[in-house]
Amino acid sequence: MLGRLTINTSQSCNLDCSYCYAGGGYYGGKSLLMDDRQVLASLMQIVQKHNDIRLVQFIGGEPLLNLPAIRTLCKKVNNLVTTGALKNQPRFGVVTNLTILTEKHLEVLREFEITVTVSIDGPDYIHDKQRPKKKALTGTHAIILKNLARLERAGISYDFEATYTRLHLQNNVTFVDLLEYFSKWKPNRIDITPVSVSEKSELGFCSEDEQRLVVTYQLDALNYALDHLSQGHVVPYGYLREVIGLLRSESSDRYCPAGESNLAIASNGEVYGCHMFTNKKQYRVEKFTNIQSFPKSQATRSYFGRKFKAIPIEAENPTAITFPTKSMVPRCNQCWARQWCRACLGNMEIRSPGKPVPFSLHCELTKHSLELLLQRLPFVIDGFSAIIDAEKPPGRVGGKRDYPR
Ligand code: SF4
Ligand code: SF4
Repeated sequence: MLGRLTINTSQSCNLDCSYCYAGGGYYGGKSLLMDDRQVLASLMQIVQKHNDIRLVQFIGGEPLLNLPAIRTLCKKVNNLVTTGALKNQPRFGVVTNLTILTEKHLEVLREFEITVTVSIDGPDYIHDKQRPKKKALTGTHAIILKNLARLERAGISYDFEATYTRLHLQNNVTFVDLLEYFSKWKPNRIDITPVSVSEKSELGFCSEDEQRLVVTYQLDALNYALDHLSQGHVVPYGYLREVIGLLRSESSDRYCPAGESNLAIASNGEVYGCHMFTNKKQYRVEKFTNIQSFPKSQATRSYFGRKFKAIPIEAENPTAITFPTKSMVPRCNQCWARQWCRACLGNMEIRSPGKPVPFSLHCELTKHSLELLLQRLPFVIDGFSAIIDAEKPPGRVGGKRDYPR
């Protein structure tokens, strides 16, 4: 089963974010809109190997620049479910800067129940400096707020994804400040991620003091969310869910799902273990050839649904990559947290190109977060259960008789 398949509908973007790992959306290549035939051929090849996909997520650059591609892909995926090629209906998602939102976009988002992940870095005096428009260099915060209101009116669910940089530190904006700021809206989830840039970048956290401060702020945010939880109020902090997920997951030698339960199709149809490796050929999982046998335009949909098994697409370069694993790294072998730890290989590659290795900010944060959760979670759960017990009528759970103890 694939947990996530990302599809890049537009390797191009209308913003010029200061820390963009995708280099303005181009991933070190040229501006590109999705090539339908190549991408559909790759999708079919992937579905032959993985007939169950939990999430299909559209990414870019800015994916909403190519709405027709999103509509086409949603229809294709739904068609694959109808014909039984996919066992279950995947969820759809899109990661967007939310600066382009026409009525047509709203229609498609609603029709296919696409969850929108909005990239926003906090208040305007931070966000506008980090995420300006290309060429115009004007901020985008006000446009996003206007479009958020439109999403809410249209009943479309959304998450927030913020990138935390040294600019936040310089302005004394903490992770808790951001959680409180984002809680003015109704997101399903709030993710705040420390920026991943090369070690020399001004936006990163260069000194040990700065790194320690970021870890402290993240732990404060975990404590904040846990305090709220113990009072019966859920703050949808993504990192808290992530750490709880780590504690519940099975031990793995892998750092992350890239190349295993995570795959990415680039706009030209190439397949990578994760979109963060786009155009880095050493991380390309497969390139499918022989697409001349794939039908064009009108015939595509029915052909795609009924006869996809017969299409003779060859994998040119299957499983070429070896991603590093924990047992290959001496410090991980000796680490008490290795059973639970997960680390983003894409972030490691950005910091240490060609030789991805864990970095200290990640290790400090992971170990302190696990310790915190192991100490606090049992108490929080007890407190939370007490609140629920106090609220429900005695002896009844969900309308049924409770079992006697
Ligand atoms: S916390 Fe760091 S050292 Fe420990 S397993 Fe994770 S990456 Fe390796
Ligand atoms: S490289 Fe990072 S973004 Fe990609 S699958 Fe791994 S954890 Fe996720």
